Amino acid sequence: MTTTTIELKPSSNPLSDAEREAILASPGFGRHFTDHMVTIKWTEGRGWHDAQLTPYAPLSIDPANMTLHYAQEIFEGLKAYRRPDGSVATFRPEANAKRFQISAHRMAMPELPVDVFVAACDALVQQDKAWVPAHGGEASLYLRPFMIATEVGLGVKPANEYLFLVIASPAGPYFPGGVKPVSIWLSEDRVRAVPGGIGFAKTGGNYAASLLAQAEAAAHGCAQVAYLDAVEHRWVEELGGMNLYFVYGDKIVTPELTGSLLAGITRDSLLKLARDLGYEAEEGRVSIDQWKRDTENGTLTEVFACGTAAVITPVGTVKSAGGEWTQANGEPGKVTLELRKRLLDIQTGAADDPHGWVHVIG
Ligand SMILES: *Cc1c(COP(=O)(O)O)cnc(C)c1O
Repeated sequence: MTTTTIELKPSSNPLSDAEREAILASPGFGRHFTDHMVTIKWTEGRGWHDAQLTPYAPLSIDPANMTLHYAQEIFEGLKAYRRPDGSVATFRPEANAKRFQISAHRMAMPELPVDVFVAACDALVQQDKAWVPAHGGEASLYLRPFMIATEVGLGVKPANEYLFLVIASPAGPYFPGGVKPVSIWLSEDRVRAVPGGIGFAKTGGNYAASLLAQAEAAAHGCAQVAYLDAVEHRWVEELGGMNLYFVYGDKIVTPELTGSLLAGITRDSLLKLARDLGYEAEEGRVSIDQWKRDTENGTLTEVFACGTAAVITPVGTVKSAGGEWTQANGEPGKVTLELRKRLLDIQTGAADDPHGWVHVIG
């Protein structure tokens, strides 16, 4: 695309202030969507074109649309927060844009330029700014950029047409009653991703692959699944949609990016923030035996999960076929809470932004 100009075709009947306020009073997560969306088309030979902001509306899809059959689909997730002065900002949107390109490349899809990705998110937030919840309550407007193949046909090949979209959904505070530890089911046989596969791409297929283990976790009374590496079934990788951190006193360790893990932007931000706060922070390997043993001998003091949706979630009880143990007596740990506050304060504009991560939209 030669220009990032997005044609604005706003809705003539957006929700009333009263209707929107009723939704914002209790938005939940991913249940309500704002008045608008952004769409940009890509066609082979022509590239990106027809960038538009239009009323939020269903898509009309041919039953032989390739995405429905072969799952050429990628997505992103980022949040817009209301700042103390009433302006709104996203957090490291260029990092999401770059990861979207990495995902696109792996799934044989066209790469959207970083500036176009950011401009599309900005345009939607600008238009639906009234949907960004008030400052102070940890509530936000969750943005979901995504891309699907739009070519029609059942031949297996990379499609020759795609649609990029951004939609937005108000999100309440993840822990309305205060931060609560999450229980984890350790999946010892089912894996999420394999070396050489698509684990590092943010694509729906990885989530589809995780749902059966997620259902098993629920049957064991657990809220999330932790996955091990697919070769040795020994090294801890991540949860279905969040990265993990292990706290050893004043040293924190997160599993290294082997290719089957998703490189979380929250994970990356915490490596830096933890060092700012005087912790030693590194990428490494943690085996499942070590997780259990070091919890039991007291050297592993806290474990937490991190990602855009929940920011930082303490891990409480871990259940596996081989036993059950609990981190930090089932309470949110001190380091977990300190890092969580530091990151949220930067994201919401309550504190300075020493790394230049906050992208103020207006
Ligand atoms: C999105 C995602 C994460 C978290 O990434 P953030 O950029 O921090 O939101 C972690 N794991 C998986 C599998 C994901 O899809």
